[in-house]
Amino acid sequence: MVLSATFDRELVETSIATVGNTGIETLLTLSNVSKHFSTSRHDTTALNDISFDIKKGEFIVVVGPSGCGKSTLLNLIAGLDKATSGTLTFEGKPIRGPGADRVVVFQEAALYPWLNVRSNVEFGLKMKGVPAKERKPIVDRYLELVNLQNFQKALVHELSGGMKQRVQIARALAVEPDMLLMDEPFAALDAQTRDALQLELQDIWTRTGSTIFFITHNVREAALLADRVLVMTPSPGAIKAEIPVALQRPRNPDTHAVVDYAAEIRSALQHSDYHRATADTVYAI
Ligand code: ADP
Ligand code: MG
Repeated sequence: MVLSATFDRELVETSIATVGNTGIETLLTLSNVSKHFSTSRHDTTALNDISFDIKKGEFIVVVGPSGCGKSTLLNLIAGLDKATSGTLTFEGKPIRGPGADRVVVFQEAALYPWLNVRSNVEFGLKMKGVPAKERKPIVDRYLELVNLQNFQKALVHELSGGMKQRVQIARALAVEPDMLLMDEPFAALDAQTRDALQLELQDIWTRTGSTIFFITHNVREAALLADRVLVMTPSPGAIKAEIPVALQRPRNPDTHAVVDYAAEIRSALQHSDYHRATADTVYAI
């Protein structure tokens, strides 16, 4: 009884907080989130006391050195893992597991090799129980959005890395999730494809108004895409700086303004951690 009374009050408080007094709705709230992993070999504190909010429609980018807990953070938001302490609420309700409202796009496109491009994009809608007649125009729209309308019959092995990643993005967007969680989605691509997909994602975000949580190692990518950049400390990961990127869109990665923001993000990353620099902590601009 006591437990449920506490829980209800927590729910009421978070729903009040979602509206706030700014009129902009909060989608996700993390309060004092920590995560420890214990294995037979060692104990790791992956995340240490993380708190932040994400508003509906925001593009949030997380940067931080390898192993600082970025993927762990994304997994907690996706509901694929549980925090050791602290709370995560999505639309005012505690996150208890994965849901169609939060869809993950991974670094390596996880597509179904036995399905063609169109069926891959359609898959999530089928799972959601959307009738075939309604699925068709949705799939058409998202294939067009990622510029794959001419490849809808192609099989996964016939696609380039960039095309596979575009299928994965279309599949995720087609279910119209409240939030897209992207874990270094362009890291495995060549520089040219990466540049093209960054611009494509900027365009898609502007047109769909989705809320995006995006992890990257690339500070220029962060400056190009983000409304707000969260900079993490080396392990155990905590948020050490928050950099709002106050630039109009569409942004061009080669403008001084974007390059200046990239330099600011890089400096926030390296400040006071310089002695720890390794190949993984050298940030390309
Ligand atoms: P990042 O994505 O920033 O590179 P991760 O979130 O993958 O970092 O990992 C953060 C830390 O947590 C690392 O020290 C990693 O070894 C540890 N870790 C991540 N997942 C597990 C797990 N399932 N079991 C044990 N340790 C883990
Ligand atoms: Mg990771």
